[in-house]
Amino acid sequence: MPNKKHQVVIVGGGPVGVALAVELGLRNVSCALVERYHAPQRIPKGQNLTQRTLEHFYFWGIADELRAARIMPRGYPISGIIAYGDLMSEYWYAPRQRDLVAPYYFQANERLPQYLMEEVLRRKMAGLPGVESHFGWSAETVEQDAGGVRVSIVEQGGGGRQVLEADYVVGCDGSRSTVRELIGIGRSGADFDQLMVLAVFRSRELHEGLKRFPERSTYNALHPAHKGYWQFFGRIDIGEGWFFHAPVPADTRTDNYDFHGLIQKAAGFPFSCAFDHVGFWDLRVAVAETYRIGRAFIAGDAAHSHPPYGGFGLNNGLEDVRNLGWKLAAVLQGWGGEALLDSYGEERRPIFQETGEHFIAGRIRWDREFLERYSPERNREEFERAWKTREAGLDERILTYEPHYEGSPVVAGPASGVCSAHGTHMFKARAGHHLAPQTLSEGRNVFEALGAGFTLLAFDAEQGAVEAFARAAAKLGIPLNVVRDTRRDGRENYEARLVLVRPDQHVAWTGDAQPADAAQLMRKATGRA
Ligand SMILES: Cc1cc2nc3c(=O)[nH]c(=O)nc-3n(C[C@H](O)[C@H](O)[C@H](O)COP(=O)(O)OP(=O)(O)OC[C@H]3O[C@@H](n4cnc5c(N)ncnc54)[C@H](O)[C@@H]3O)c2cc1C
Repeated sequence: MPNKKHQVVIVGGGPVGVALAVELGLRNVSCALVERYHAPQRIPKGQNLTQRTLEHFYFWGIADELRAARIMPRGYPISGIIAYGDLMSEYWYAPRQRDLVAPYYFQANERLPQYLMEEVLRRKMAGLPGVESHFGWSAETVEQDAGGVRVSIVEQGGGGRQVLEADYVVGCDGSRSTVRELIGIGRSGADFDQLMVLAVFRSRELHEGLKRFPERSTYNALHPAHKGYWQFFGRIDIGEGWFFHAPVPADTRTDNYDFHGLIQKAAGFPFSCAFDHVGFWDLRVAVAETYRIGRAFIAGDAAHSHPPYGGFGLNNGLEDVRNLGWKLAAVLQGWGGEALLDSYGEERRPIFQETGEHFIAGRIRWDREFLERYSPERNREEFERAWKTREAGLDERILTYEPHYEGSPVVAGPASGVCSAHGTHMFKARAGHHLAPQTLSEGRNVFEALGAGFTLLAFDAEQGAVEAFARAAAKLGIPLNVVRDTRRDGRENYEARLVLVRPDQHVAWTGDAQPADAAQLMRKATGRA
């Protein structure tokens, strides 16, 4: 293709698109990003960032900037309160939530409005020479053939038109994705046929009224009338700023509904407030049929859309970026094969499908069934017993959400392995799973020693085995960093002398001795087998 200018065109400059531009830019892949709007929408969605998401920011070199952009005071608990009926109820608990899995990640979780996070990503992107951004432009058409892709873009409110040419295009253009539609990818999932309101408001009286609880960032009032749909308050700051979402009747508009009354009812006491924003969204869980057609990919909400329940949306979108980024770079730089690009959807799609079905829709059903089955008015004793058991059930949901790629064709996982959102958090290194952190004898964490390419961790391993990997990597042109150390002081918890780690910190292979064919193993891990 003559006049090819970029390696990748990214359509959509929300958090996922900009993060992909950062990931690719850092990997020396030239890209163009097209975003309809000039500035991020100032609605505080996507607040809850997991420990894993903060690991991405660490590798992008902006974890400190992200934490500095936080509005809440450092150390203010990120977890929430769950109450029965309304927030003045005698029945409530404060579950530990993601604190439970903190030891298995290198970074602590964080909480800040999505637009502040997007600003941190945009600043990083602006400093990357290989990334060209087109803010205020919209993608209209996407065409592809064996040689590449062409994306036509138009200037919003201006007369400008351009055609961007590249090897690949990635649609990060949100749940109504133009790219997904243009390349003909359908979606399936659960439509709850339920309209939800999102209100952003300020109220000091609400802050004062919730002082009966220990300090927390979110408050969820489960009311039997709402069939498991949440009435959810989230703090934007301490003392005044809030967002709230809850189910409302299908014909609700901003001018025909008493939102103040709704919020006071969920809180369980009267308070004054000033609204900054009222909007709506449909409660729907949808996942795309495939994440790739030829040279076109989709990621983030374009690939999977869902309600904010559990904070899965943005965090999953950023994991898509981490998964797809190194694979595109590997193929464009000649050390990855076609199968590596297919593995993006093969690894990521089943995870979101299960997340949507079990952890999002399943959670709504779980809450609904509880509220239908138990009631303090009908049988107080039975309700109190069940309410106590629910808290342990919530812990279980956090502990078993461990997305992994055991069944991936580019991972040496168990024969019966599948890619799944369900797993167990362990320090043991397992093929397909996220690597847990450990300290090296030199004092650094293993995560600080991981390379941008593959890393071979060798703990009291035979020199011959390490050399076999190094030779194979050199021959195949695969970037490989070797970290040697002793097998003690916590590192024995990996339960393997040799751990081959992918560029996205998932384990590709483990063993105690030199594999029969290290080169074959590395070909498999890079989709060239
Ligand atoms: C109330 C609320 C609370 C939430 N809370 C959480 C949470 O706590 N944790 C969490 O993980 N997630 C949360 N989410 C979900 C999260 O906000 C989304 O998953 C996230 O925004 C997805 O990012 P994205 O970049 O994929 O898509 P988007 O944010 O939708 O960005 C897509 C971008 O593409 C642009 N675009 C679209 N079409 C074109 C085109 N043709 N040309 C150019 N540009 C285009 C759009 O302008 C937009 O900027 C919440 C969502 C809501 C509504």
